[in-house]
Amino acid sequence: MERIDGRSPQALRRVQITPNFVGTAFGSCLMETGGTRVIATASVEKGVPAFLRGKGQGWLTAEYAMLPASTGRRKQRDGLKKDSRGVEISRLIGRSLRQAVDLRRLGEHTVTIDCDVLEADGGTRTAAITGGFVALALAVDQMIQQGMLKESPINHQVAAVSCGVVEGKAILDLNYSEDSHAEADMNFVLNEAGDLVEIQGTGEGKAFPVAQLQKMLRLSGIGIRQLMECQLEALGKKACVVMQPQTLVLASSNAHKIRELSQLLGSRFQILSMGDAGFEGEVEETGGTYAENAALKAEAVRDATGYMALGDDSGLEVAALHGAPGLRSARYAGQHGDDDANNKLLLKNLEGEADRAARFVTVLALASPFGPTRYFEGICVGSIAREPLGEGGFGYDPVFLYENDLTFAQMGEVAKNQVSHRARALGKLKEALG
Ligand code: IMP
Repeated sequence: MERIDGRSPQALRRVQITPNFVGTAFGSCLMETGGTRVIATASVEKGVPAFLRGKGQGWLTAEYAMLPASTGRRKQRDGLKKDSRGVEISRLIGRSLRQAVDLRRLGEHTVTIDCDVLEADGGTRTAAITGGFVALALAVDQMIQQGMLKESPINHQVAAVSCGVVEGKAILDLNYSEDSHAEADMNFVLNEAGDLVEIQGTGEGKAFPVAQLQKMLRLSGIGIRQLMECQLEALGKKACVVMQPQTLVLASSNAHKIRELSQLLGSRFQILSMGDAGFEGEVEETGGTYAENAALKAEAVRDATGYMALGDDSGLEVAALHGAPGLRSARYAGQHGDDDANNKLLLKNLEGEADRAARFVTVLALASPFGPTRYFEGICVGSIAREPLGEGGFGYDPVFLYENDLTFAQMGEVAKNQVSHRARALGKLKEALG
């Protein structure tokens, strides 16, 4: 089958994305693919719709319309009654681009993506999504420059393309005349990993075989990879707002803990120490609970740096000592951080004691620039050895026997990090962040 414009089945039409096409918008572009031309703008307002108020997150919505002269016959402008096709496409664009953004990191802002079709030659909704993403990224860059955001909440790149079956053959990126006699017509919205954000598909006139769907899916992957290159090229230097890992400042100056937390958080965040984030001060642990102390640290660092901050407070609780050393774990023997003296005093206080049950408790406080501080508790149950054993670790590691009868100091960092109180609290944190 020969295509009308001589393209191969897997070829896109010529793509041109002109950034900053509308000077008054936060972000904008002109998205051209073949004869289809769409203006996409992103506007930003403070506040969110009523159903999201107070939840510490933002919102993204979209509106799509075709200008009257965008098709051969004049299209009536929307009056009081909205064109239902436009409403359906607006919702598709909104759903698709919401998947590009971590709404919790957008703060209480509403981004509206407006897509106006100047000229329609097939694939207007997919062009609107691909161009809408560029407008969104430019708006986020603008928000950062204006101090509305500290860093980018864009955690996925999203683009869309149409595919169809014409004369029994699967083809990519249909123009209007191909679309108008296609046997199947589909739209694919994918992210940078090639995962599906949304698929729309219709057998025009009659059902089409599943094998054709698989062929179209493959074609869509080829097309979308190229469209994503075009998006990044159009963004130029501003492409750095796309999929930046979120910064998390660890509100601790304990090198052991920083290493342990960094290992446990893997590649989910860009981890900064307080010093790297420009925080110089000391935060006094004057709280009456682990949670209060953890929050005091996290919130002070969050307030000073503008980044999300993680504070933690932990302690060792020994049953026979009625929960001591507890909140005083670091300074049990008097001087803060004197691990040897602390361990000696603990063993002395437990001399002759048969009940050696103990547990480590950690509370993590995650202070976000946008919402309330969240807490995650981790508990690791064990017992106190009769003498210090093992070389590794810190604090009470040499005297804390885990259930395998090795002390934390003997287990080594990797094994300890799988079961420790901090690991358990962090597991809950990671689950909550999704
Ligand atoms: P922090 O609040 O996490 O600094 O913990 C207070 C004190 O509890 C530390 O100074 C240590 O003495 C002890 N501690 C907390 N976590 C651990 C651990 O994983 N191993 C050994 N001691 C710990």
